Amino acid sequence: MQTSGSSLPVLVAGGGIGGLAAALALVRRGFAVQVLEQAPEIGEIGAGIQLGPNAFAAFDALGVGEKARSRAVYTDEMLMHDALDETLVGRIPTDEGFRQRFGNPYAVIHRADVHLSLLEGTQETGRIGFHTSTRVERIEQDETGVTVYDQHGRAYRGQALVGADGVKSVVREQYVGDPPRVSGHVVYRAVVDRQDFPENLRWNAASIWVGPNCHLVHYPLRGGEQYNVVVTFHSRQQEEWGVTEGSAAEVQSYFQGICPRARQLIELPRSWKRWATADRDPIGTWTFGRVTLLGDAAHPTLQYLAQGACMALEDAVTLGAALRVHDNDFSRAFALYQRSRVARTARIVLSAREMGRIFHAHGVERLVRNGLWKGRDAERFYDAMEWLYGWKPEACLADEPENR
Ligand SMILES: Cc1cc2nc3c(=O)[nH]c(=O)nc-3n(C[C@H](O)[C@H](O)[C@H](O)COP(=O)(O)OP(=O)(O)OC[C@H]3O[C@@H](n4cnc5c(N)ncnc54)[C@H](O)[C@@H]3O)c2cc1C
Repeated sequence: MQTSGSSLPVLVAGGGIGGLAAALALVRRGFAVQVLEQAPEIGEIGAGIQLGPNAFAAFDALGVGEKARSRAVYTDEMLMHDALDETLVGRIPTDEGFRQRFGNPYAVIHRADVHLSLLEGTQETGRIGFHTSTRVERIEQDETGVTVYDQHGRAYRGQALVGADGVKSVVREQYVGDPPRVSGHVVYRAVVDRQDFPENLRWNAASIWVGPNCHLVHYPLRGGEQYNVVVTFHSRQQEEWGVTEGSAAEVQSYFQGICPRARQLIELPRSWKRWATADRDPIGTWTFGRVTLLGDAAHPTLQYLAQGACMALEDAVTLGAALRVHDNDFSRAFALYQRSRVARTARIVLSAREMGRIFHAHGVERLVRNGLWKGRDAERFYDAMEWLYGWKPEACLADEPENR
């Protein structure tokens, strides 16, 4: 399939972080792009996100590094405390030494600010069109391109399609059709103004309190004017994958026995959003002719490594690099992109499951967890994180002779 030279645009399903990043990568390869988004507006939910150095390397490669940097909060450390007795379980500096080691910072940022940085980048290109209130429902392929049908039966024609339509991807459903693994873990998220946030937790850190079958996360946003609060617990009921309005009473009914300092976090939000989370088992094939998957559509993960969005950004950069190597031939580029991403993203999915177990340990396992990192210095932590945070755009393709 030699598609360079086609005058058709490339279609992207989904205008989230992954879809916008993909659109930017495609424009940088010279394509016109049409983004199809089901929501009435291109935007993001009100919540925070952590970004590893790999995300900043990807932002730079997509040409929006300065925009994202200007909106981020740079933390001094990552902290893990035992939520029962306040023991400090782990402390990883993310200061100058961390930045030197990985060439980029660790940061926390409002999701809307990540999204806005990418959106501004797409608008500046003048080559990316947006169709909102457009839900992709069906895809057909032929010799010269793809046709995507929306909920009204309208057809969109492109030379290829990137399915960046998130955890419940319709594109994945059509080509893979695999079931989600509903975790039974429920996440509540809220953003709290500084004046309402307890002074004894106003740390410039990505902080986690780990407890039996639960954990609580908090970190500053927007120059410390707001704080992101995320609490997670193992639900007592049968869960179905999805997002609903939360109830403070439900949150209060969990977290028994948690120390008073951490418990303050669940008293704060005036409104909560509730996520019943799921992931999927990693798959080795996510490219189907002129269609490929990207971001959560390709490798939905539990959030315990704080890397889902970072992976979507890396995916986009890698897709662009694969198109460069194969001179915009989608068939070969999609195959190379997939080969370059499957193992890395599967490692994220599988490691996140393990991390959930470590976070939520109880009984003797909790004691093992609390001793795991005793006396470990920064460099040893950094060595362990090298595979993740040491990702570089210039080495993002599969290590094959023709890509060196
Ligand atoms: C509680 C929680 C905390 C997290 N924390 C972090 C973190 O700290 N760091 C991190 O890197 N990641 C984090 N993540 C993961 C991150 O949010 C996701 O990995 C990231 O948003 C994936 O981006 P995406 O563009 O692939 O999917 P999405 O953000 O889901 O975007 C998909 C887009 O596609 C649209 N869409 C869906 N279906 C269709 C359709 N059929 N047709 C057209 N449009 C469609 C949706 O409306 C949406 O705009 C967290 C996730 C959760 C749940």
